Amino acid sequence: MSYLPKGLPAPMPENDGLDKPYWDATRRGRLLVQHCKGCGAFQWGPEWICHKCLSFDLDWREVSGKGRIYSWERPWHPVHPALNGHGPYIVVLVELPDAGNVRMLGNLLGDPKQDVPIGADVEAVFEPHDDGKPPFTLVHWKLA
Ligand SMILES: [Zn+2]
Repeated sequence: MSYLPKGLPAPMPENDGLDKPYWDATRRGRLLVQHCKGCGAFQWGPEWICHKCLSFDLDWREVSGKGRIYSWERPWHPVHPALNGHGPYIVVLVELPDAGNVRMLGNLLGDPKQDVPIGADVEAVFEPHDDGKPPFTLVHWKLA
């Protein structure tokens, strides 16, 4: 089942391959964050260079998929025609303690009118779209 209605553009890895490891891992139900082999810093979104030490020697580390809500918003206005009649929904900015507190954006599953406590524990939920061309998996969040 899909959290979002049909008709939204499917996410695609960038043509340059930079974020391909992330998308490949989500297909296996795993969450990866870019990591610098030079200084150990995590960063998100992925870049060709480390923002902290300017090294080009980056790799990816699997993280637990457990995070906490840093911020959120509840959009009521449909930002895409496919979302007409489907609001509201909750967008969360999730901080990942086991990845240097980098933050990822995503949807919060559950009642779209629920209370959203700042700092609440959340965990990643993988939503595969096996019929996508190419197939892809979205990462959502739910209260832990
Ligand atoms: Zn670095």
